[in-house]
Amino acid sequence: MIKLDFVVGISMYLVLFLCIVFCVWLISRKEKDRGVYLDERLVWFCTVCAYTYFTSRQEAISVCPRCSSYNKK
Ligand SMILES: [Zn+2]
Repeated sequence: MIKLDFVVGISMYLVLFLCIVFCVWLISRKEKDRGVYLDERLVWFCTVCAYTYFTSRQEAISVCPRCSSYNKK
């Protein structure tokens, strides 16, 4: 009986551990999705040279790194 309790204990521990890992994975995946959503707002498309570029800040006007023309959202 002691051996069986030990196996059950290990199994419970493993299931609990897997649940924690799954929860952490879900949370990290959600945060990654949120990051992608924020990044999309920082993507700029140049209307002059059709160049796609990124900015680190959310601005109303940005300068294209390729043709140096101003782009407005
Ligand atoms: Zn451009």
